[in-house]
Amino acid sequence: MIDLHIHSNFSDGSETPESIIEAAKDTELTAIALTDHDTFDGLERAAKRAEELGITLIPGCEVSCLYGKNISVHVLCYFVSDSKSPLGLYLEALQHDRSTRNERLVLKLNELGMGITLDEVKKEAGVGLIGRPHFAQVLLNHKMVGSLDEAFTVWLGNNGKAYIPKERIELEELVQVVSLSGGVTSLAHPLSGSFSFDRLEQSLAHMKEIGVVGIESYYGKYTPGTILKLVALAEKYGFIPTGGSDFHGKYKPDLFIGIGQGSLAVPDEVLEKLISAKSNV
Ligand code: AMP
Ligand code: ZN
Ligand code: FE
Ligand code: FE
Repeated sequence: MIDLHIHSNFSDGSETPESIIEAAKDTELTAIALTDHDTFDGLERAAKRAEELGITLIPGCEVSCLYGKNISVHVLCYFVSDSKSPLGLYLEALQHDRSTRNERLVLKLNELGMGITLDEVKKEAGVGLIGRPHFAQVLLNHKMVGSLDEAFTVWLGNNGKAYIPKERIELEELVQVVSLSGGVTSLAHPLSGSFSFDRLEQSLAHMKEIGVVGIESYYGKYTPGTILKLVALAEKYGFIPTGGSDFHGKYKPDLFIGIGQGSLAVPDEVLEKLISAKSNV
């Protein structure tokens, strides 16, 4: 089994790249992809530990982009780790945007009576990029919210009072950037954003046309029934049904490496298919 969607403390996960590789080994996974939001920075350390423990590490990252007028989608990008590649340069721009967004988010929360500081959020994020889960944890530490979920629902989520969007490009453009960098893309948690199952199906022929290679059909939070339907849908439109847990450590405490909420099992053949798709890029 494999897990192609994992976040470390280099973005908004709580665990180090090394401990992620160790957990993958304990769970008897053969391969994982580290897919931190907007950064390759954890990949080198993960690769070193993966080599020591005999696990295959696929370099990756997860990037938010736009589909159509206003649908936000997350995209997993695989097989790219070069910071000088077109994707690497784009990530650098995203990191710059994040830092101004963080400042605006602190100001906005303060205006709304939530007196937190950027220093506290930076401390929570440690070595990694700052993301909304770090803001959520700081709000929780102050008991300004009762749970991480509440932090998103009331304040930080897309319908929250302090929501500030990130800079995003169109899906088609991102796919081109990844492709120019020698990588392939998969649509992350396809039912977790604005897509219903039907709306997703209506979009798949177009997504195939613009060069998306995979649909994340096996996903940590999806039920076995949903996974079966998504695998069938991916295959119907000629996508590779990729999969992973979306592990974030303490920031998503219900999700575990390899097994998601307990029953996730992503077959090795998914990776074999991705590797052959990469060689066609
Ligand atoms: P950011 O990249 O800063 O926009 O933060 C994205 C992170 O926030 C991802 O890990 C998401 O899974 C998490 N996130 C977004 N919306 C929610 C939500 N409603 N509940 C919990 N986590 C969320
Ligand atoms: Zn995340
Ligand atoms: Fe995501
Ligand atoms: Fe993710």
